[in-house]
Amino acid sequence: MRKYWQKFITLTLAGAMSLSMISCGKGEKNDGIILKNVTQAKNVILLIGDGMGPEQIRAGELFKGEKLAMQKFPYMTKVQTRSVTGLTDSAAAATALATGTRTSNGYVGRYVNTATLETTDLETIVDVAHGLGKRTGVIATEELYGATPMGFSAHSNSRNNTDELVNSAATTSNVNLFASYVIDAKYQAAFTNADYIKIDDADMISESTEDKIFGSYAIAATYEAMMVDGSFVAFDRLVTEALEYLSKDEDGFFLMAEGSHIDHGGHNNDICYMLEELIAFDDMVAAVLEWAKDRDDTVVIVTADHETGGLELKSSATHEAIVEAYENGGIGKCYTWSTSGHTNTDVNLYINGADIDFAQYSFKNKDRIKNTEVFEIMKTLMTGETTAE
Ligand SMILES: [Zn+2]
Repeated sequence: MRKYWQKFITLTLAGAMSLSMISCGKGEKNDGIILKNVTQAKNVILLIGDGMGPEQIRAGELFKGEKLAMQKFPYMTKVQTRSVTGLTDSAAAATALATGTRTSNGYVGRYVNTATLETTDLETIVDVAHGLGKRTGVIATEELYGATPMGFSAHSNSRNNTDELVNSAATTSNVNLFASYVIDAKYQAAFTNADYIKIDDADMISESTEDKIFGSYAIAATYEAMMVDGSFVAFDRLVTEALEYLSKDEDGFFLMAEGSHIDHGGHNNDICYMLEELIAFDDMVAAVLEWAKDRDDTVVIVTADHETGGLELKSSATHEAIVEAYENGGIGKCYTWSTSGHTNTDVNLYINGADIDFAQYSFKNKDRIKNTEVFEIMKTLMTGETTAE
């Protein structure tokens, strides 16, 4: 913990803007942007906080001392995260969100019949968008072969089959833009061999006229970014660059961007790590809303794949108590973790830009939908056709 805190100080002094904003406690004021409601969306943006349960969000709000950007969205529901296996992993969770099909843990973009072990590759929301002539983007603050970005772009029996996942994403996906944390040269080669053009400077993404591009960056504020020498790109800036690139398509676009490391903070039961990642994620959400605010064709959805760590805030968890715990490297009595793994806790889903009647989805209860129905909602918004039964 202490080691991490020192790294954080170093990075803050090095000038990572979104981090230093947190540490001095005067983040830019968010004005709670409400997008114009549409029934058919030209652009759909799905922002996933990996491992971001309701208590993580509440901790972020208390830490910041004001509502987060995502909490200012006009509509919210709860999402059940279970996989076929039961307690979900990130592979099955991403597959559910990306394809609308519940699968077994470990499987990426693929359904497995648990009796016959027969598998079926699933159509993703990226494929749906591509079929409508839209551009598509997949961004993660972790390596590209992480379970969540792969759920939107690859098919494999295992989230650990990295070579197969990367080849699948590079050669068979309908993704126009991939951007992630630094990946190995051999994985970068898989993309260049598949005619993806590498963009070394994230600031140049918006100017690209290429059909297929990818980038491998040290994305601040992420924990791993601190381990890497060289230039950083802030998560919010990276996503804004991607929005400029994707929106050049007159048919619109689909973008999935994941704040991958909120999950790692949970696995490590490290509140400092979790808070930094969550705030960086929310800064990115705010930047997306800022980009979309004058448009009348864009829907933004914020959700999580599952909760990680079983975080619970005690009644003593005030702004001051959370900040004090943060400043003491996580030491504080205002919260508890119950596990180093994932939990079955329902996650929050926030939607801005569309007035969704969540009651039409299968739980028939507007307070709770299934993770697979997030796909249905996005598909319905893009096609203008109702797919819910
Ligand atoms: Zn996890």
